[in-house]
Amino acid sequence: MAMSINSSAFEGKIIAIDGPAGSGKSTTAKLLARRLEYTFLDTGAMYRAVALHALQNGVSLDDAEALADVAAEVNIEFRNDEHKGQMIFLNGIDVTDAIRTPEATHGSSAVAVHPGVRREMVRRQRQMGERGNIVAEGRDTTSVVFKDADLKIYLKADLKARAERRMLEIVNRGETSSVEEQEKLLVGRDKNDTERKESPLTQVVDAVEVDTTNLTIEEQVEKIIQLAQDAFAEK
Ligand code: C5P
Repeated sequence: MAMSINSSAFEGKIIAIDGPAGSGKSTTAKLLARRLEYTFLDTGAMYRAVALHALQNGVSLDDAEALADVAAEVNIEFRNDEHKGQMIFLNGIDVTDAIRTPEATHGSSAVAVHPGVRREMVRRQRQMGERGNIVAEGRDTTSVVFKDADLKIYLKADLKARAERRMLEIVNRGETSSVEEQEKLLVGRDKNDTERKESPLTQVVDAVEVDTTNLTIEEQVEKIIQLAQDAFAEK
């Protein structure tokens, strides 16, 4: 019989999840953290917060030195709200929605290319992961931040499935698009993500690949829990 997720083998572990846009990483990581009673470390949200602070304070997204200072100085905090779920605070102010605007999204990719910004974010992320019980999601979590994670997952899915998921998100927000348009955008993002110099999207050799094309979110979470049970039982 599979080991229970309440077993002490689940104490203090780190699970890192990566994969291309639309593979379901965020939703999966969030639900997985809830199931395991772990903290969900949304690394992308931290880059978004740095970008938002820069935009609000007129700091140029090309100014590597000024951005490294911003990264070192800002206070970024995750808090759990019973009703709203995980929220993010920037210098004590709720920016949970503000970091999701198109400007902050674009800004986050721009600030993330600067090594000084990355160094500081990685340092903070490792500090948050010191005591384990973490599900970390994001670009460099399996390859850089938590190189020694107890379980590394690489989520993948066919382009069409990823585009359809994006469409659904957009339609749910009351906006319109087409699967073809989303496919085009995803191809562009895949190219940027895999070809960029700083921490490109890569599948590390010790990551377990999970193809989510034909899986529901619940099935993805269940599959990772099974993988964790196997991985943690061996240690
Ligand atoms: O995952 P999310 O879309 O919130 O991330 C926003 C941006 O932050 C990404 O497009 C990427 O450029 C950057 N990022 C990163 N390293 C991470 C997480 C996010 O460079 N670990």
